[in-house]
Amino acid sequence: MTRGRLLVLSGPSGVGKSTVVKRLREANSPLWLSVSTTTREPREGEIHGLHYEFVDPEAFTAMVEAGRFLEWADFAGAQYGTPAQPVLDQLETGKSVLLEIDLVGARQVRANYPEALLVFLAPPSWEELERRLVHRGTESLAARQERLRVARAELAAQAEFDQTLINSSVDEVVDALVSLGAALPG
Ligand code: 5GP
Repeated sequence: MTRGRLLVLSGPSGVGKSTVVKRLREANSPLWLSVSTTTREPREGEIHGLHYEFVDPEAFTAMVEAGRFLEWADFAGAQYGTPAQPVLDQLETGKSVLLEIDLVGARQVRANYPEALLVFLAPPSWEELERRLVHRGTESLAARQERLRVARAELAAQAEFDQTLINSSVDEVVDALVSLGAALPG
């Protein structure tokens, strides 16, 4: 059986990655969506095991030391990682897998899984991204400023990716990702 394709979706904070993933989840897309582990607090409405596995820092460190993560990174004061085994199992059964992760994690995937396809989700414009980050309203001013700083660095990283999708239409981005997952692993 053909192995599935490993897709990485990354891009600046606030660009709409989680909206795309939400749509993929609701649409029962053929892509298998990896559930990350994180030390950050759940936001309202987030469900343990669906949106993230929420763990304390000790449990996260133990997972790092046991080599359980395919990649992991610190982001805005919390830790985030992709549990390796479920992803490898899905690829083995021929399913394509989507990881929605930050740039640091995307670089680790690039280094360790050269066959992965890295997709950069870009905002229609920087002004639009800034507007979204400022109006998100779920975080303190300091946290938003930190996210803007990270977002600027992330925008500059676009050239490291295999593909760029501009997030002017969620439906188009979703369709493009599903098509990329269905293409033969290159
Ligand atoms: P949020 O806290 O808004 O859910 O996510 C913050 C950032 O962490 C986003 O850029 C998201 O893509 C990234 N992220 C989520 N899960 C993972 C993961 O497993 N690994 C890495 N490296 N980044 C992740």
